[in-house]
Amino acid sequence: MTNSAPSPALPAASESAQSFDVLPLSPALLAILRQLEYHTMTPIQAASLPLTLAGHDLIAQAKTGSGKTAAFALPLLTKLNPRRFAVQAMVLCPTRELAEQVTQEIRRLARFADNIKVLSLCGGSIMRPQRESLEHGAHIVVGTPGRIMDHLDRGSLNLDALNTLVLDEADRMLDMGFYDQIAYVAKQCPLQRQTMLFSATYPDGIGRLAQRFMRKPQEVKLLEQHEHGKIRQRFYEVKHEERLQAVALLLKHYRPVSTLAFCNTKQQCRDLLDVLYAQGIKALTLNGDLEQRERDQVLIQFANRSCSVLVATDVAARGLDIAQLEAVINVDVTPDPEIHIHRIGRTGRADEDGWALSLCSPSDMRRVETIAKMMGAEPEWHTLDSLQSDSDKPLVPPMVTLQILGGRKEKIRPGDVLGALTGEAGFTREQVGKITVTDMSTYVAVVRGIAREAVKRLSSGKVKGKVVKVRALED
Ligand code: ADP
Ligand code: MG
Repeated sequence: MTNSAPSPALPAASESAQSFDVLPLSPALLAILRQLEYHTMTPIQAASLPLTLAGHDLIAQAKTGSGKTAAFALPLLTKLNPRRFAVQAMVLCPTRELAEQVTQEIRRLARFADNIKVLSLCGGSIMRPQRESLEHGAHIVVGTPGRIMDHLDRGSLNLDALNTLVLDEADRMLDMGFYDQIAYVAKQCPLQRQTMLFSATYPDGIGRLAQRFMRKPQEVKLLEQHEHGKIRQRFYEVKHEERLQAVALLLKHYRPVSTLAFCNTKQQCRDLLDVLYAQGIKALTLNGDLEQRERDQVLIQFANRSCSVLVATDVAARGLDIAQLEAVINVDVTPDPEIHIHRIGRTGRADEDGWALSLCSPSDMRRVETIAKMMGAEPEWHTLDSLQSDSDKPLVPPMVTLQILGGRKEKIRPGDVLGALTGEAGFTREQVGKITVTDMSTYVAVVRGIAREAVKRLSSGKVKGKVVKVRALED
């Protein structure tokens, strides 16, 4: 399965999308990409894969959702020997959520060979099962720096066979104060290896990391270009004190099912939440003060469309892979135009249209000018008066999340829950949305109209042959 053929000379990433076929990938891997319907490379993949498949170290800068995971997963999988039961690649991520997203994506791609084991090693879970999994042999580990360090210290993780080290969301890891941990872990990796670093921005620490732990890294930086017409950007002039109320007006006018609202501070997130609640709009927020379980619940409800508004700071929202985002609202204009472009790039993905709505007080005008210059477009100004605020129809998400106590530990699988709802309980497949199984709980989205009845019927029936406790996550 190893493929050490040199990469053919490729033209720099061009306007037209390129097929993966031009890369030195094995036929089995190409077949998996077709199966996943990855027909063409994303720009960061097209720019970086020819370099990384040829063995170079890489520093890459690209926005969230640009396909960075496959950009590092393909080179590490290409080098991997599935018959060698040792850790050959390691990916460091800032948080458990991101580590889990990366683990899932690598697992999907790793299906090109039998029995490639990808293990996620993060804090917040018990050490012992992780140690046992490591004893059984893993080919690839994905984890947070602190937990990886713990395993190294206890001797449960051996890196002698490692040939690839990836630092994903490196700027975020530095934000979180992981420099020393990353350095500690990197020092224990064999010198003969490929190192790839991915980052959305370039704070000082990145250069220091690169200098200490990378060999002649190639750099790929993709200035973001959004396809015209997909993201419709509008600026609203507001007085500072009407800012939060204006968010409610925008939501009631545009009525998006999923909106990410960016605030510059945590306090503003909390204030906005209060204002929205008072208007009967259910919103949730992500911040560093939440426990892991609470964070999981917020993200699950947002992703399965049972919460329409997620309020977050840039740091809290970094790296989240959220599909189907109809709108991004900038509650404040950020001083950094790159961050602005990064924020609005989260809507209008794939073939969907998206709204990028920004609220600007007179003191923000300079910021808007800088953004407009960088985007090469005239800002489109609108007034709050143009919004139809008379629509008093409440803004209600289409789904409700039910929490079932019992998850991976009880060996519950999505199919068990779907089976219980569509079997004995008598609902249809169409009334059931996304099902997410975590260690201790299972979350299932159902259409709002059947939520109460679904709780009743699930509680009086059985899931996987057992009576379960069920509740709706609504208050
Ligand atoms: P990033 O790490 O840059 O935020 P991800 O690696 O999480 O982005 O990818 C975002 C989404 O795009 C994922 O759902 C992934 O499955 C999908 N994806 C990645 N590469 C491709 C591709 N070449 N074609 C289609 N979809 C892709
Ligand atoms: Mg990523």
